[in-house]
Amino acid sequence: MAEGKAGYFGEYGGAFIPEVLHATFEELNEKFTEIKADPDFWQEYENLMSTYSCRATPLTYADNLSRHFGGAQIYIKREDLNHTGAHKVNNVMGQGLLVKRMGKKRVIAETGAGQHGVATATMAAKFGLECTIYMGEIDVLRQRPNVFWMERMGATVVPVKEGTRVLKDSINEAFRDWVTNMDDTHYVLGTACGPAPFPEMVSYFQSIIGKEARRQSLEATGKLPDSVYACVGGGSNAMGIFQGFMDDDVELVGVEAGGHGIDTHLHASRIASNDATVGVAQGFRTYFLQNQDGQMNETHSVSAGLDYIGISPLLANLADQGRIRFESATDVEVIDALSLTMKKEGLIPALETSHAFAQAFKDAPKMRSDQTIIINQSGRGDKDIFTIADAFDDPKWKQFIIEKARQYES
Ligand SMILES: *Cc1c(COP(=O)(O)O)cnc(C)c1O
Repeated sequence: MAEGKAGYFGEYGGAFIPEVLHATFEELNEKFTEIKADPDFWQEYENLMSTYSCRATPLTYADNLSRHFGGAQIYIKREDLNHTGAHKVNNVMGQGLLVKRMGKKRVIAETGAGQHGVATATMAAKFGLECTIYMGEIDVLRQRPNVFWMERMGATVVPVKEGTRVLKDSINEAFRDWVTNMDDTHYVLGTACGPAPFPEMVSYFQSIIGKEARRQSLEATGKLPDSVYACVGGGSNAMGIFQGFMDDDVELVGVEAGGHGIDTHLHASRIASNDATVGVAQGFRTYFLQNQDGQMNETHSVSAGLDYIGISPLLANLADQGRIRFESATDVEVIDALSLTMKKEGLIPALETSHAFAQAFKDAPKMRSDQTIIINQSGRGDKDIFTIADAFDDPKWKQFIIEKARQYES
């Protein structure tokens, strides 16, 4: 394993990759530098996103929630209205355009809960690319609806039987594939993690969220928000919206999965808890939830998309600098926040997203009514009906599933 020089954010990041991938990463770095300097590329990207995925997504004033809390005015950035139901498509379509420029014919991706897999399979179908998705065997069993859609869109889903058979194992497996097929294959990494240039590149495509939100805030309220909230898994939706306000006097709040509570070890919080340590894994250096031997801990969260063991090196660095306030929300707080948002606004944030809502709901009542906040609604929850119905322990849903199973048996 050799270490790349560029791609550090403070002491985090880097590219710890096998020798055989050096040329591939060089090509990727070159292409990424090229597109960043090319205004036509961003224009092509914006055109694609506005015709394929509902961009610009709206900024919605949550008047009922604002009244309910009697504090800050609450605005919601609607990434849930993207095609495939979350912000992930921003990154995936951007990388898709890059793949076309590189002339590669095949894409591979890791996926945990399956959202990134579905987004990648969607992009591959649209761009006519061959597509293989690596997914932990346990996740394949738990997330059948997403596997169903990936396969319908023509992707091959490979259940990963290594390790604990979850997300981190599927990342290792995707890298193994890449090492043997790098000539015609691009690895579409799903969040702002992994070896450079992925953390910066994924953040770059997601910055479309923050660019829009900043402009929309000025249009809607005549000023910038006081605070911006985003949930943090690997960190891509958070980096996406935060970048719009990085140089402004705007508080940025990242909310991690508190699971059963950050003092229980049953959580996925790397910065807000004291359980993570700095190390090198999965090709980069950051805070990981690991034990003293560098073995990765098992994480817990009600939301499948926030339980990654590491965090974006860009966010780790911004946390050190004190630019971002990190908080966590417990599973119980998340379900409460989701319930309230559905009843008051008729919006269904994803369980991941509901972490950001939960923290915003703690802070909003303490703020003045002339202050405003923006919550990034990273995705919609109705596509996760199986998970959410379980989280609510809904008896009528269970009955429906039992009846459905009987129907298949007869
Ligand atoms: C995947 C996912 C996340 C977590 O990923 P980040 O890279 O931290 O943004 C958050 N919200 C939704 C809806 C997701 O699908």
